[in-house]
Amino acid sequence: MEIINRRQRMNSVSRKVRRELDQTMGLVPTMGALHEGHLSLVREARRMCDIVIVSVFVNPAQFGPQEDFTRYPRDLTKDTMALSDYSVDYIFAPPVEEMYPKNFSTYVTVEGLSEQLEGAARPGHFRGVATVLTVLFNIVRPDFAFFGQKDAQQTIVVRRLVRDLACDTEIVVLPTVREESGLALSSRNAYLDKDERRAASVIYRALEHAEAAFLSGERNAKKIAEAVRVQIEAEPRARLEYVGVNDAETLDKLERLDDRPAIVSVAAYFGKTRLIDNIILNRVRSGATGRLA
Ligand code: AMP
Repeated sequence: MEIINRRQRMNSVSRKVRRELDQTMGLVPTMGALHEGHLSLVREARRMCDIVIVSVFVNPAQFGPQEDFTRYPRDLTKDTMALSDYSVDYIFAPPVEEMYPKNFSTYVTVEGLSEQLEGAARPGHFRGVATVLTVLFNIVRPDFAFFGQKDAQQTIVVRRLVRDLACDTEIVVLPTVREESGLALSSRNAYLDKDERRAASVIYRALEHAEAAFLSGERNAKKIAEAVRVQIEAEPRARLEYVGVNDAETLDKLERLDDRPAIVSVAAYFGKTRLIDNIILNRVRSGATGRLA
């Protein structure tokens, strides 16, 4: 496993893999502070690709001015140790100035998909995400890139991005890995104290409740959202930011659910920590729940 810090080195390594060795490359983009959710992506990349590259980069462009960019957990030594168990070939961990050289002035905006839900709550977030992923894809030119369902809107934005900009990369999306309590694993869970962590499991209970309502025939999106809202607001440590019921492909806000996949998504604060989660209704099921035993 080699740790690469420079874009030029990453570029030449991947060119060699592609041209001389004719091997397939999988990229797992992360911001580090790796947990089982990230590792599930790495495992699948290892299974599907000859060469696995994990990028570790806390991307300043996707954080708002009042957000947690400076205190976001960073521990490359620990991340390297976690990845050494997975036969990862390269870790790409560039400093900010490698990704955003002086006078950087080209940004990518995926219009229409970036303005609602997380985009409305975090203006500029998806512009930062789309820009960094475009730079990463151009440096690495991976055959496959792996993403978690946990960040559902991100997966929709990145799919549109690679289609529109004709990136030669296939996007693979894997299920959300959860604690036994249902809480989705997240690097930001490290900010939660014990009580907040216990309380935060209400998010997934509320989402499961929405699924149960859907399965028993409820098709009114407002009623489904309301059921989620009531359940989360009953938890005194939770401060709900939004519940959305949207088309899982276009992110259009839904009035009624039909036979298309729909996404129920939530953002809520527990203390100062902002968590997001989602569930897909009407999906063709793979059977995997992603829950840790
Ligand atoms: P992050 O480091 O938070 O930017 O996440 C990097 C990748 O890991 C993204 O594609 C996330 O969606 C994915 N990811 C984060 N948490 C989970 C989880 N609990 N289960 C599956 N994938 C996850």
